[in-house]
Amino acid sequence: MTNMLEVEGIDVFYGPIQALRGVTLHVGDGEMVALLGANGAGKTTTLRAISGLIAPEKGAIRIGGTEAGGIPAQKVVRMGVAHLPEGRELFGELSVIENLKLGHWPLRKDKKDEAALLDEIMDLFPRLRERAHQASATLSGGEQQMLAVSRALMSRPKLLLIDELSLGLAPIVVQQLFEAIAEVNRRGTAVLLVEQFVHVALKYSARAYALARGEVVLEGTSKELLASPQLLAAYLGESAEEAAPEAIAEEREPVAPAGAKAPAKKRPAKARAPRKKSPNGKAATKRPSTEVAEAETPV
Ligand code: ATP
Repeated sequence: MTNMLEVEGIDVFYGPIQALRGVTLHVGDGEMVALLGANGAGKTTTLRAISGLIAPEKGAIRIGGTEAGGIPAQKVVRMGVAHLPEGRELFGELSVIENLKLGHWPLRKDKKDEAALLDEIMDLFPRLRERAHQASATLSGGEQQMLAVSRALMSRPKLLLIDELSLGLAPIVVQQLFEAIAEVNRRGTAVLLVEQFVHVALKYSARAYALARGEVVLEGTSKELLASPQLLAAYLGESAEEAAPEAIAEEREPVAPAGAKAPAKKRPAKARAPRKKSPNGKAATKRPSTEVAEAETPV
C-alpha cells in the first residue's frame, strides 16, 4: 500500500512553546484515519503543519511521496490537500455558491470541472442546492458545516484534513456529515480526521492515533481501540467514555484503502511509551457528549 501522507518525527514550536514532539503518522491512499486527543494535545497543530500553515522545526512531511514539510499552504493545496479548519472560516456575506466557487481556485482554469463539481457536491448535500443563493451567514450551523466540507471538496482533494467536524452540532447533523464524509472517502479521497467525539471518529475511521502533550501515545485499528475502552480512557480521559462498543448504534465497516487487507487484522493496537506521564483520564474535554446531545442546532 502506498501512503498519501507520511509525517515523520515532526517537532513544532509556537515561539518557546513546543506543541509537537516527534509526531509520526501516516494515512494510506484512500484511507480514513482519526487523530484523537484531549484539549491542547496538538491535533490542530498537526493538521496545520501538514497543510503548510506552520513549518515544523524538525522531521519530514511527505504528500504522495513528495517532500512537503515547510512549503507554503497554497502549494500544499495544489498537491491535493484540502484543510477544513475548526470554525469553518466561511465568507458570511457571500452566497453558498460563491463560497463554493472560491474553493475551486486551485483548479480555476477548468470551468467545466467547476460546474461538474458543483453538481456532484449539491447531490451530496441537496440542502445546499436549495440554499445556493443564500448568504452563508444566514445558514444554520449544520448547513454551514456542510458548506465548509463542500468548499474543501471543490479543490478535488486527494487528502482531506478535517478539524472538529462535529463542533457545536446536534447528533443527527453530525451523523449526516459523517455519512457524507464516508461517501467521499469511499470515492477515493483519503481523510485525516481530528475529532473530540472518540466513538464517532472510531466508528467511521479504519485506524486512529492518539496524541497527548504533543506526542503520539497510542495507535491502532479503530476496531481494536473501540474494543479497548480502558486503554482509550487511560490516554484520552473523559472524551473516551462513550467509546465502548455498545455505544456504537450501528456497526459500520470502516473503509479500507483500495487493495489493502482489513486493517483490524494488520496491526494490533499499541500504546507508544510516552516520554512523559500519560494524561490519566483527567484531561478536560472541550464539549462533553451530553452537551452535544442537548445542542439545539437543527440542520
Ligand atoms: P484543541 O482540541 O483544544 O483545539 P489541540 O489538540 O488541537 O487542542 P493545539 O491547538 O494543536 O491542540 O495546541 C497544542 C499546544 O500548542 C497547546 O498547548 C496550545 O496552547 C499551543 N498553541 C496552539 N496554538 C498556539 C499559538 N498560536 N501560540 C502559542 N501556543 C499555541
